[in-house]
Amino acid sequence: MNLTERDSQYLWHPYTQHKTSKPPIAIVKGEGALLWDENNKEYIDAIASWWVNPYGHSNKFIADAIYKQLTTLEHVLFGGFTHEPAVVLAEKLIEIVPKNQQKIFFSDNGSTAVEVAIKVALQYFFNKGEKKTTIIAFENAFHGDTFAAMAASGISFYTQAFQGMFIDVVRIPVPIKGQEQASFDALAAAIKNNNCAGFIFEPLVQGAAGMVMYEPQSLDELIRICQKNNVLTIADEVMTGFGKTGKTFATDYLDENPDMMCLSKALTGGTIPMAITTFTQEIFDAFYDEDINKALFHGHTFTANPTGCAAALASLELLQSSEMQDNLTRINKSHLGFQKHIESHPKVTTTRVLGVIFALEIKTESSESYYGTLRNKLYDFFIENGVILRPVGNIVYILPPYIMTDEQLQKVYEVVEKALEIG
Ligand SMILES: *Cc1c(COP(=O)(O)O)cnc(C)c1O
Repeated sequence: MNLTERDSQYLWHPYTQHKTSKPPIAIVKGEGALLWDENNKEYIDAIASWWVNPYGHSNKFIADAIYKQLTTLEHVLFGGFTHEPAVVLAEKLIEIVPKNQQKIFFSDNGSTAVEVAIKVALQYFFNKGEKKTTIIAFENAFHGDTFAAMAASGISFYTQAFQGMFIDVVRIPVPIKGQEQASFDALAAAIKNNNCAGFIFEPLVQGAAGMVMYEPQSLDELIRICQKNNVLTIADEVMTGFGKTGKTFATDYLDENPDMMCLSKALTGGTIPMAITTFTQEIFDAFYDEDINKALFHGHTFTANPTGCAAALASLELLQSSEMQDNLTRINKSHLGFQKHIESHPKVTTTRVLGVIFALEIKTESSESYYGTLRNKLYDFFIENGVILRPVGNIVYILPPYIMTDEQLQKVYEVVEKALEIG
């Protein structure tokens, strides 16, 4: 039996209807932007393996840092103990996150980073003796698959089985072009009609919704409305963080600062699962008390795992190198060139680019569902042609590792252009 056959005996895959989907592709090796399967077929990873891998597969610099840490101190509990990798990572992150962010809390993945932020928003008001229990979120948001994160997420078929079991969430429209005022008004109304504790958002780009983009000025306005009304703001930078939008964080485009920020995905360069939620001093202070009941009773066994911290430190060093910053500019320019070339194609309705993110929408007769027929045809076509892209309905997006070569990028563009003929 090959790996794919052995897989089907015992394994259950994410977001997969096993009865109707094709068997998974068994990958045996990765290097740079490339992956190879067990039949030695080569693939270009044009979505950085779900947005986690900016610096390339099997990156030696990060691997060496991990090895060194593994053979020095692989793990120690973080309750009552600390260690240098966590301290140094916190110091380095505080230099680059929005300047009001002062405290760093570790967890394991994007969903838990969000879970922590939502729990903190709710307990912040509880600790102050105020009853605020509603969270505000965008339509079509994606914040993860644990319960509070799922409650805040608006992609309905992900969450339909659990309706009625969620914390209270009010949903407002995303301030995309032409819809800004409606979004501001909906936020003001949501705050007026509910006891809102927090507003969670994916800053500037909604990844899972299909790289839906909106302007920083609009987000600034939404944050100001929250600030005026004592509603905490949570920037979920799990997807956008660490260079994707062209700046280190999407919030770097803003004038206002969020009260909390969630980080994961590219944090460790796609090597070790790790996440961080950051907070203002003011939020931390609402938990700082003689009374033990005011503490944040949340923790995960692998909190601040030293090996993960070492991987994050090495990743940060790579991101901040001039070589990687040049890559960000190079890929953005390349995307803008492809956008110019493709935007007038008769099958294309809209295109959008921010940083290393490119997206286009394909004209369809009827509205295409998330995992519809066109989507599956496109996906199969890309795989056949050795390019890993996962369209969202009729939206095709590219989010390459920053080290992808110009030649590889051109091949991705060519395959995307050819795919328009099957749509
Ligand atoms: C992927 C993602 C999450 C969830 O992260 P997981 O590590 O998959 O739990 C949360 N928020 C955003 C914006 C994401 O893109």
